[in-house]
Amino acid sequence: SARRAAISAVTNYKPSSPPMNFRDTSTGDLFNANVFSKSVMKKRLPKPVYKALLRTMEAGEKLDPSVADVVAAAMKDWAISKGATHYAHVFYPLTGLTAEKHDSFLAPDDDGTALAEFSGKQLIQGEPDGSSFPTGGIRVTFEARGYTVWDVTSPAYILENDNGTTLCIPTAFVSWTGEALDKKTPVLRSMQALNQQAQRILKLFGHTDGSLVSSTAGPEQEYFLIDRNFYFSRPDLLNAGRTLFGAAPPKGQEFDDHYFGAIPERVLAFMLEAERELFKLGIPVKTRHNEVAPGQYEIAPMFEFANLATDHQQLTMTTLRRVAEKYGMVCLTHEKPFAGVNGSGKHVNWSMGSSSQGNLLDPGDTPHDNAQFLLICGAVIRAVHKYQGLLRSVVASASNDHRLGANEAPPAIISIFLGDQLTDVFQQIKAGGASSSIPKGTLTVGVDVLPPLPKDAGDRNRTSPFAFTGNRFEFRAVGSNQSIAGPLVAMNTIVAESLDYCATRLEEATGGDPEKLHGELQKLLTEIMNEHGAIIFNGDGYSEEWHKEAEERGLLNLKTSADALPVLKNQDIIDLFGKYNVLSERELASRLDTYLEQYCMTIGVEAKLTIKIAKTMIFPAAIRYQNELAATCTNLKMLGYEFDTNTLDAMTELVKELQDSIAELEASLAEGESDDLLAESRHCCDSVLPLMNKVRTYADKLEGFVADDLWPLPTYQEMLFIK
Ligand code: ADP
Ligand code: MG
Repeated sequence: SARRAAISAVTNYKPSSPPMNFRDTSTGDLFNANVFSKSVMKKRLPKPVYKALLRTMEAGEKLDPSVADVVAAAMKDWAISKGATHYAHVFYPLTGLTAEKHDSFLAPDDDGTALAEFSGKQLIQGEPDGSSFPTGGIRVTFEARGYTVWDVTSPAYILENDNGTTLCIPTAFVSWTGEALDKKTPVLRSMQALNQQAQRILKLFGHTDGSLVSSTAGPEQEYFLIDRNFYFSRPDLLNAGRTLFGAAPPKGQEFDDHYFGAIPERVLAFMLEAERELFKLGIPVKTRHNEVAPGQYEIAPMFEFANLATDHQQLTMTTLRRVAEKYGMVCLTHEKPFAGVNGSGKHVNWSMGSSSQGNLLDPGDTPHDNAQFLLICGAVIRAVHKYQGLLRSVVASASNDHRLGANEAPPAIISIFLGDQLTDVFQQIKAGGASSSIPKGTLTVGVDVLPPLPKDAGDRNRTSPFAFTGNRFEFRAVGSNQSIAGPLVAMNTIVAESLDYCATRLEEATGGDPEKLHGELQKLLTEIMNEHGAIIFNGDGYSEEWHKEAEERGLLNLKTSADALPVLKNQDIIDLFGKYNVLSERELASRLDTYLEQYCMTIGVEAKLTIKIAKTMIFPAAIRYQNELAATCTNLKMLGYEFDTNTLDAMTELVKELQDSIAELEASLAEGESDDLLAESRHCCDSVLPLMNKVRTYADKLEGFVADDLWPLPTYQEMLFIK
């Protein structure tokens, strides 16, 4: 059987020979080797052109189109010197995947030869057809023009394959009306919005140098590795990215013997090569370790500007998948490939900073800095409380639903973990609302009580979806398979709104008098704590009590994507994105449509797979064994022996239940299709999914009965423990 063949292939795995030698070139030398980096530009571009580009990259100035031809020529020469034959505009459609359209540099010349060409126009703008990407109605096929536009802030790079190399140019993908069809455009817009509002706050504190405030992101990626032989003998993994069947193995993760354990040889070789590939692309990977579940690992880079971090995150996922293949494995980025063991998340560490101010969420140690920190931290608290529904909806997906709210990932309730020290400070601010009791000149913002925070706050809370971790917030509800663009757009925009609110209040209250700042700030923060302090929770997010308490506090508990996605229709969300020019109403609506559609399609595909596997693999195995039992029974009875039919009875019952549940699922699937995506998503959530689980329950029970040699699917034990 396929299962037996897979086990035998895995146990006979031999690394490709000769093994890669990682010692010859030091990894450090590889950093940025394939990137059209600043140092390459500096070498290859005329000074004024280089300067103009830098102003766009670093200060967010408008790009001077006249420099494009010069840059394009330099880029082409550099790429060709690296063996590139093609260039590709890389873009990020709403599917969350990465798309690229390749064009050859070569164009026929008059004399019948071919000439390498790459103009400024080709660099700046492309027109991939791409009309099959979901656009949620923005772009209908008859007006199918979509453009890719060069994003100067994310450097071009060379992608090496076994057969050649390609110059890749990160781009935004927009319709001919200028509407965003992709995930990158809103990230850039939201960064701009955040910068504008942050400047106003900095101005209140006397920082007027105007250096660009950018949001920063450091995404930690969790993933599973399994041998590809198992992968290909599991139609569910292959088509849905997760197992739809599989009884819990006798030994799971209960011993915690995998977590931070020694990394297996094959996996380590994979990691080394993946890291080197990422280094060449200028992705500053830093940590790697085993995660909690068997077969689960994590990779984390140093943080970068949000836009670059987003592009690099996408590249990280594709690189992990590509390199895993070379080692005979498959990298699973699905949030919950295996039921009953931990799922995978993508913790997105988020902060904001500028070249002159550094990290704005660093508590620092002078009171003056602390006041500014407390204001910004207060603004984040307000934003997360006010827009908790939005934060839940930007991490909504059919696959992440299996993780959020289960007993290992953050719950679906959004709350903030501040740690004991900061919580105490904010409690004092709240209590000190009538600040008269605090002697003038000391207080004002409760700064004197702020103890110098250890950079690594010793206390951690793994159950919190949104945690302050020393000098940044860590958004932990993001799914391992998701683009981090959506979460970053939400973070940047809600914090921009909150900073706008705070700046406006303080500008009005102080009338520009810096003497009044601290007093007014105290008032504002007290008010924020009174109105929004309910979002702060340092306890155990998994506990029953928290669910009750959260409800009493009026916090949302949007358990599924079908509950969370419709938040994008709320007027306050439309207003929010409209006001800061991040997404127009139409752009937002198109996203809701696309995500609902993806949700329904995912569950639809899973349901069809469930039916197919149950009918054509599990049912046949079950009745074969049932037949064997029945034959044994008959034969023995004929010979005058007794035969205990307990097993046969139980099997027969289960087979019937399996058949009945398959029929129920089929019926539910048939009645679910609808033009109304909201209704369809509800149906998927409330009917199709539970019925899929029902089929699974019986199938998994049968796995405990059917003779091992008849069982068709590689088991959890085999997939997770045979390496
Ligand atoms: P842990 O597992 O303890 O959360 P990791 O080292 O795995 O820590 O990941 C921490 C992540 O946070 C790294 O990607 C790191 O670069 C990032 N980070 C640190 N400072 C900032 C910051 N100011 N803004 C955004 N991300 C940051
Ligand atoms: Mg971590």
